[in-house]
Amino acid sequence: MGLTGLDIFKLLPKTNCKKCGQPTCLAFAMMLAQKKIELDKCPDISDEAKEQLAGAAAPPIRLVDIGSEAARHSIGQETQLFRHDEKFHNPCLVAVTLADDDAAFDERLEKIKGLKFTRVGTDISVDMIALLDKSGKADTFAKAAKAAGESGMLLMLSSNKAANLKAAVAEVGAQRPLLHAATADNAEDMAKIAKEANCPLAVRADSLEALADLTEKVKAAGVEDMVLDMSGDLKPALQSLTQSRRAALKKTFRPLGYPPMTVVQEKDPYQQVLEASTFVMKYSGVVVVSATEPWQIIPILTARMNVYTDPQKPIQVEPKLYAVGEADENSPVLFTTNFSLTYFSVESDVEASRMPSYILAVDTEGTSVLTAYSGDKLNEKVVHKAMQAAKLEETVKHRKLIIPGHVAVMSGKLEEETGWEIMVGPKESGVIPAFLKQIWN
Ligand code: SF4
Repeated sequence: MGLTGLDIFKLLPKTNCKKCGQPTCLAFAMMLAQKKIELDKCPDISDEAKEQLAGAAAPPIRLVDIGSEAARHSIGQETQLFRHDEKFHNPCLVAVTLADDDAAFDERLEKIKGLKFTRVGTDISVDMIALLDKSGKADTFAKAAKAAGESGMLLMLSSNKAANLKAAVAEVGAQRPLLHAATADNAEDMAKIAKEANCPLAVRADSLEALADLTEKVKAAGVEDMVLDMSGDLKPALQSLTQSRRAALKKTFRPLGYPPMTVVQEKDPYQQVLEASTFVMKYSGVVVVSATEPWQIIPILTARMNVYTDPQKPIQVEPKLYAVGEADENSPVLFTTNFSLTYFSVESDVEASRMPSYILAVDTEGTSVLTAYSGDKLNEKVVHKAMQAAKLEETVKHRKLIIPGHVAVMSGKLEEETGWEIMVGPKESGVIPAFLKQIWN
């Protein structure tokens, strides 16, 4: 159990000096108990008290770094059970398996490296190779680790043989791979390798109780950076993921205060996507799949993208004038809002029309057309201001503006406000190519 605010208060200097930015020591203690302030904000805490309080100040779920300093990715340090309460902080890693004895090793490696996509203007990709020791041979596993390491991707080295893991770590230890996995049977040897190489270590057990015992044992052996392997069938795995998150956050139960991981067990290609997406959402720090088809990977990465965006901050593009293709002074001008999903839908459909055009992304604080209009963030004055800021009159010779069909109602006022001819566009962006062909010569 973590310390309460009063427990913490007893250990503070009680001078109410305010150097920490809080009005009193009690206020500081309460903030520390809720993990809302750093312990080192109080410069006067004694070393003895600091030692006792370090545990209380530590995040309930440890931040674990994977990868070399140059390509580091952090997982864990999550603070919420529900994303709508604040946000989830450190996006999980998506890993794809690669067997060390795969006859088509190079081909599969290339395929994994190529799993990169662009969605709503953001690059998304698979992050990690989960190298499996299928050969059972140390030299084969080490050679494969070296080859996988040259991909520049993050690595997970998976073997139940400590000697094989050690051989692979000798090749790629500097890349700080995730070592997988310590069990009750091999924990001592695995912890020794992880400690010597300063690598994070996954731990695996049959139940949460056994897992909690194991993390204590591995910690006592000198390994702090752990990842909890909760792989299993969907239902029990989901229960473990939820219970451990709850125990770590609500009870500050330190033995389960590490980011979890899951290896998708499903073999059916469709079910694999479903299972992986579920683990992304609740609450895996690493999700391992064997899927390599883009149609399987894209939904998993999309689920990650969605769940790790801040629900209080819509994804936005910079509000400005964008040229699509070789737009010139005779090109049509369409406006939409700066909500990313809206903007990129319009942009891709304008691009599909093959008609060079301008798109004016009006600042509506990242809200969609109808939401912005109903909240009065999109009106004739806002659009006119955006046109002026973008120097539209100097950019095109004509005076015609195409507006979204959903706000046809504002065409009269907009015409009055701007003096431009307003052309009402389609309600659905998919119709833009046909619309442009029809109205713009
Ligand atoms: Fe108390 Fe330390 Fe804050 Fe001063 S800086 S008010 S001693 S907690």
